[in-house]
Amino acid sequence: MAQPQMRRAIESGVPDNAQFLHPLLAKNAGKWRYHDRPRPGVLHHVAHGGDEVWTVRAGTQRQMDVWTIRTLCDIADKYAEGHVRFTIRSNIEFMVSSAAKVGPLIAELEKNGFPVGGTGNSVSMIAHTQGWLHCDIPGTDASGVVKALMDELYDDFRREEMPNRVHLSTSCCEINCGGQADIAIIVQHTKPPKINHDLVANVCERPAVVARCPVAAIRPALVNGKPSLEVDEKKCICCGACYPPCPPMQINDPEHSKLAIWVGGKNSNARAKPTFMKMVAAGLPNNPPRWPEVAETVKRILYAYKADARPWERLSDWVERIGWPRFFERTDLPFTKYLIDDWRGARANLNASTHIRF
Ligand code: SF4
Ligand code: SF4
Repeated sequence: MAQPQMRRAIESGVPDNAQFLHPLLAKNAGKWRYHDRPRPGVLHHVAHGGDEVWTVRAGTQRQMDVWTIRTLCDIADKYAEGHVRFTIRSNIEFMVSSAAKVGPLIAELEKNGFPVGGTGNSVSMIAHTQGWLHCDIPGTDASGVVKALMDELYDDFRREEMPNRVHLSTSCCEINCGGQADIAIIVQHTKPPKINHDLVANVCERPAVVARCPVAAIRPALVNGKPSLEVDEKKCICCGACYPPCPPMQINDPEHSKLAIWVGGKNSNARAKPTFMKMVAAGLPNNPPRWPEVAETVKRILYAYKADARPWERLSDWVERIGWPRFFERTDLPFTKYLIDDWRGARANLNASTHIRF
């Protein structure tokens, strides 16, 4: 008789999350009857068998020190049956099995500085990339922008007063992580990379860097008798794609790396199909630690949307209804020829195939 095959150990990837679930969530997986929201920041799920779970959602400063994590874990042990989870937008959620536990849990979270909210038609936590702490190519911080902005949008997180949910995101380079959001803050390089020719031959695989450029602006070159690279600055679109494989292609710049705001992206196909976002503000100063110019522009867009959109319109639906000219009127943002356009010429110019072009 054939021996049963032993399952091979998995040495990479995340462990099966079922072992960490609150017991009522594990027991009722796929058996929920309905859910509602008794108040902002609280979800209430009822299972077919009668079990009920209340989930309390709170915001954090995202990059957390060990003492903050211990505080959150102590709150979970004392007030929330010992289980927490993080949402994809970095909210923390605590699950409890009785309505009586919700009030004390909320009071304890808010006493410790963790606002409860982020559900329904609120401004949820900002989805962000890694920033200075974890990545090797960021042109700005990402979690820092999140903390600075959410401090300004504190009440919009705690209340469900927007026309529909509002998802924000930040990205600290133009090319890698980050995704579609109602309002997105994205690094914008405005000058081609400066090349440190002394380092190129030691650090970079030149064909890999040449192939990386989406507009074929990089060529191999001999500089001071050493193999290096050169950039055709008329072609370069300042995307920064050459910098990760070749750090001597210095594109991050304290003055010329700016921030841009994009609006109208969404992933869901609820009510309307998913949409790509479009750039509506460019050249904002990359101004840590509070990025006040970015915060001001985001709030201007957000509150114009809040005042003008119809119930259940996402930001993209609102813009679709009123049109781009009125969007710029209502937000009082300056319009230039560089905004909105999604650059149809990209179909012909971008290095979109697997062929390397020299
Ligand atoms: S967006 Fe770019 S810079 Fe930021 S974490 Fe991702 S890869 Fe790194
Ligand atoms: S990869 Fe981007 S930044 Fe680098 S040369 Fe090409 S277009 Fe310019």
